[in-house]
Amino acid sequence: MNEAQKTPAHAQPGAAVLDALDADGQGLSEHEVERRRQQYGFNQLPSQRKRGPVARFLDQFRNTLVYVLIVAAAITATLGHWIDTSAIAGIVVINAGIGFVQEGRAERALAALKGLLSPSARVWRDGRRRVVDATELVPGDIVLLSAGDKVPADIRLLRARNLLIDEAVLTGESEPAEKQSDPVEADALLGDRFDMAFSGTLVRSGEGEGVVVAIGASTAIGAMSSMLAGVEKVATPLMRQIHSFSQRLAVAIIALAASIFGLAVLVRDYPLAEAFLASVGIAVAAIPQGLPAIMTITLAVGVQAMAQRRAVIRHMYAAETLGSVTTICSDKTGTLTRNEMTAVTLRTAAIEARVTGTGYAPRGRIECDGAALDLAAAPDVMALVRCGLLCNEAELEQDEDGEWQLQGDPTEGALLTLALKAGLEPGAEKQAAPRVDSIPFSSENRYMATLNRFDDGLRIVVKGAPEQVLTMCSHVLQGDSTEELDANAWHELAERIAAEGQRVIAVAQRWVSGDQSELAPEDVDGSLVLLGVLGLIDPPRQDAVDAVAECRSAGIRVKMITGDHARTACAIGAKMGIGDGERVLTGTDLDALDEAALSTRVADTDVFARVSPGHKLRLVQALQANGEVVAMTGDGVNDAPALKRADVGVAMGKKGTEVAKEAAEIVLTDDNFASIAAAVRLGRAAYDNIKRSVLFLLPTNGGEAMAIIAAVLIGMELPVTPVQILWVNMVTAATLGLALAFEPPRDEVMRRRPRAPGEPIVSAQLLLRIALVAVVMLVGTFGFYGFLRRADVPLDVARTAAVNALVLFEAAYLLSARLLERRLRHWRDFTGNPAVWKSIGLVLALQLVFTYTPGVQMLMGSAAMPVWYWAVLVPLALTVLPVVELEKRILEVSRGS
Ligand code: ADP
Ligand code: MG
Repeated sequence: MNEAQKTPAHAQPGAAVLDALDADGQGLSEHEVERRRQQYGFNQLPSQRKRGPVARFLDQFRNTLVYVLIVAAAITATLGHWIDTSAIAGIVVINAGIGFVQEGRAERALAALKGLLSPSARVWRDGRRRVVDATELVPGDIVLLSAGDKVPADIRLLRARNLLIDEAVLTGESEPAEKQSDPVEADALLGDRFDMAFSGTLVRSGEGEGVVVAIGASTAIGAMSSMLAGVEKVATPLMRQIHSFSQRLAVAIIALAASIFGLAVLVRDYPLAEAFLASVGIAVAAIPQGLPAIMTITLAVGVQAMAQRRAVIRHMYAAETLGSVTTICSDKTGTLTRNEMTAVTLRTAAIEARVTGTGYAPRGRIECDGAALDLAAAPDVMALVRCGLLCNEAELEQDEDGEWQLQGDPTEGALLTLALKAGLEPGAEKQAAPRVDSIPFSSENRYMATLNRFDDGLRIVVKGAPEQVLTMCSHVLQGDSTEELDANAWHELAERIAAEGQRVIAVAQRWVSGDQSELAPEDVDGSLVLLGVLGLIDPPRQDAVDAVAECRSAGIRVKMITGDHARTACAIGAKMGIGDGERVLTGTDLDALDEAALSTRVADTDVFARVSPGHKLRLVQALQANGEVVAMTGDGVNDAPALKRADVGVAMGKKGTEVAKEAAEIVLTDDNFASIAAAVRLGRAAYDNIKRSVLFLLPTNGGEAMAIIAAVLIGMELPVTPVQILWVNMVTAATLGLALAFEPPRDEVMRRRPRAPGEPIVSAQLLLRIALVAVVMLVGTFGFYGFLRRADVPLDVARTAAVNALVLFEAAYLLSARLLERRLRHWRDFTGNPAVWKSIGLVLALQLVFTYTPGVQMLMGSAAMPVWYWAVLVPLALTVLPVVELEKRILEVSRGS
């Protein structure tokens, strides 16, 4: 709609807006949608990047270690060592280039993941309710909104019921706005257009329906594109830790370089220029130039692997935090269980029946004592089943393959299947008793009620948790009359059904004497007639059962949270290995406990039942007070605070609301607990790989720096020039180091306790290994170099040998470093990661280029060396293996393992 010429949609009556858009409440036809798509395009914002490529490239230079390198380049330039200068400058630029490309890749990967999470919208099309991708909306579409939705386009509301919308993204206003459908002034500000729902805002509560008036870039949020959150910059606590580490390293390196300079000039009488060069060499040698890029890649590889395992990371830092999670609080229904409900138990005052069959297909029957129940003679059973069908939002449909597909809540789907098994036809029944009004189900109230107009008058129908429904009832249906309700007996019956792991639903009804068109909570207080109760099974997901066991071996406690009955929860928990089948805390218990008492009780309780979303936040806080690192799952609007507060908030991708996803760090695309465990495993593996890269790269830097220091102390020429050092650092990082990012996850990562948060990447022991390997490299490299020099081998040939020695040492060390603390024992310990051998092949090829290609020789100051040197260097390099393996063994012994 062209707002400049016409009255804006918010100032027109709803009917006029519909007219102008050539739409009606039935929704557009698919054909018309297609036509409009041609005209208006898809409902998406032009993608936007916060930083342009130039800014992103320049950002790569903002690093203390790079500053040191730039100063080094300046010093060599002043001394007229142009080759050094250009090599250092070249390295700085190449390094920035690598960082630029990798960061871009990581950002794109994250952006693509966000695409996976594209929200859907509920619309009317061709007179039927459909769920479509939000990008497929066109102007004129009729959209339904309910609590938890992210508004998919700019919508002129036609109907609104208690609709509260959080418009903070648009207006900055933190209080949600109350919406209605009457037009407002034409010049009303965005925040005062109460008849509009704007794209990108969040529905806090209530329901509404409206017509799409603007999509994509034409929406209010599209117009404010500068305010859009761009792709998140890749910075995680771990990387910040590394950043501050590199700052401290820079200071140490400068101090070291300065003292070597002093030493060289004052003690060793080096000429000034030589001394400068040596200190530059040290500075260059000690800096692990490739480390930041490798860390980014490692995390990105981990995040992508998680997405393949159906856990989409919304914030990069969650990939790390996952590795330190100590407690996972998981919803039961649908996450631990399959969420495929089947009614199996049916009880009225007169009849005890079982229902056969599984799944939503209406194959099966209602049986009493093993024989089919005569339904014609059981009006009470039929009343119960019929009311279960009427007080119901779900829809069952048979697809082309004859499979029964459920749209809506599985609990309600089970009641539809039950009705079909009893011979009722949902469409006809709903027409015979049309719905006048309803109170939707909520996890807080745990019941749903509808007002239906039957032939013989208005009736209220309620279904819900027995505790709720029984308090609403005074009588119970007995045959075709009613008698006084014995609530205790029914509670006991409900407990018995629950103890078998079934979800219990009680159904009740009441005639309404006068006429009324609205249903309020007061209407269901006290005087209803109980029809009976139903027991529903929802089998555990087998892979979730396995994942719970895996978490246990990984030192992670799994806690189950559900709105179900305590006995149901305990029974299911016992089947899944959660809790002891006895201990349980209910929402009521939680309310009675103060913070301190709660903290002690949560420590030894694993099952929480009859819990409302509001309790989840308290649970998270209590667990955190005990020092736990908590992952919490959720799907509803009211789960959002708990998800935000948890160390890792996990939202459900399928049944979760947009509000929950927005509050979470991780979204599960299959709603499955097993995917959380898989993500934890991959998070731990990624952390290990980062540890491996640090452990692998630092010894080279240490070895090089020590070789230079040794040369200065002895008064020898440097065994490697600054340019050559840069070559070694880059070549080893870009080939060997990178291979570590692709180390596959080990089974053992899920067999050890969670890492303590704040634990340093490199423990004292690993630091010792870094020093040990550095010394081996020093002795080997410097020893061979010294031997060659004493044998009067020309300087450039001896240096080439030293460079090759360093690289070969690294290549050999890689074989051991990839196992971290485990020892090399089997042949497959050498073959486990094909990337390792590829990278070793590549690095050898590069060294041949370095040694024998004239052009490179000129640049790098290298020279062809006799072939027999290799025969010495390779075994020499391999000596690092027994040394490190011995150190690992000593470590094992000292740990007593
Ligand atoms: P969960 O957290 O395990 O999904 P809910 O809060 O959805 O549990 O359900 C809690 C209780 O509310 C159930 O045990 C059941 O008795 C009742 N209930 C669940 N779904 C519905 C529904 N659609 N209509 C009426 N009652 C329901
Ligand atoms: Mg539920």
